[in-house]
Amino acid sequence: MGRLIFFANPAKAWSLLSPSRCINSNVKAVISSAIPRSSIVSFSSSTSPSFARSNNAIERIRRQQRIKENDDECLKALPEAKFMIYAGGRPLLYKLDDRNRPPKLTTFSQLQDLLPENNSIANSSVFLRLLDEGDDVPLFAMSVPKQDEQLLEKIESVLNARFYDIRPALFMVPPEWSGLMTGASSLLRWHKNAKHCWTCKSPLTRNASGCVLKCSSDSCSNTFHPPTSPVGISLIEDVDKTRALLIRQAMYPPGMYSCVAGFVDPGESLEECVAREAAEEAGVEVVPDSLRLLGSHHWPVPAGSLMMGCVVATETENPSPCDHEIEAVRWFTPTELKNALEIVDKNPKLRWAKDKDPDILFVPPRGAIANTLIRSWLNERRL
Ligand SMILES: [Zn+2]
Repeated sequence: MGRLIFFANPAKAWSLLSPSRCINSNVKAVISSAIPRSSIVSFSSSTSPSFARSNNAIERIRRQQRIKENDDECLKALPEAKFMIYAGGRPLLYKLDDRNRPPKLTTFSQLQDLLPENNSIANSSVFLRLLDEGDDVPLFAMSVPKQDEQLLEKIESVLNARFYDIRPALFMVPPEWSGLMTGASSLLRWHKNAKHCWTCKSPLTRNASGCVLKCSSDSCSNTFHPPTSPVGISLIEDVDKTRALLIRQAMYPPGMYSCVAGFVDPGESLEECVAREAAEEAGVEVVPDSLRLLGSHHWPVPAGSLMMGCVVATETENPSPCDHEIEAVRWFTPTELKNALEIVDKNPKLRWAKDKDPDILFVPPRGAIANTLIRSWLNERRL
């Protein structure tokens, strides 16, 4: 992945902090006066460990954990951080014409210049992770008011970037950014919506990193973590492994087929979920123990989902769509599936195109886990 480099405003004290230096007490004083802490509840007050850079994966992960859980450590990370910016759930991306446009990151200093005086970066940003390259730069995400059109235009103009709808944006960014982008989207939406305790209705307060919300009532003290819903999504093959079964929901654009998918019910295993969804949506019985988990990724809707991608086998020869959700179920030969994949590879925006020919069959574009499953299945057949 290419490194994104931005230049901080040298007039800001933050930009003088070399990533390779430990923060001494004088610099701490500058940071404390510059970052408003008024509405941040300190969940932990232990002395922060050294702020020295990590140089291996375990150190990086442990430093991430400290930033998430220790408010002082998180506030110290802000001045050297890069930020993904969202407006009404729409991420800010580079203005490029084709695919592989990464999110446009900004520095703390740039944000201070762009945002109104009364906007607290600390209170409106959430920590995501350390970028595992170079100096382990902390990556945060923050949301700016979508109704402030003047501010949005200023951000787009100054940074030479644009806010895009998240769904098409997911198919534009390089794969290594998609999980971060969807995770940030879900985390910011959670902060926007989760304002009161489920038990006693008292206001919730956040920790510095934004990874925990806590009930403000002393007699309750509930804590809340960001929700993620598990989803089983499966490519169903016949037992001879010569055909793949895909479905068409009525809501899909004309010509598009995809894999069977659904939320894991409480108490269900992934295997049980996949077997149930295959029966419900496609009317086929899954062969026990045939499930192969090929991978997983995060998806931003509805509130944040972990999509677990599987291949399962069936002996059912004649599938049947459920009448209220699925419009069609269809076997694809490897050649037919390869054609459908090539069509969307050539035109990744096909699902949003108007006046599509329903006889031109295609599958979800790169970035969707269904695309990965189909591509993997074809790769196994050297296609
Ligand atoms: Zn409560």
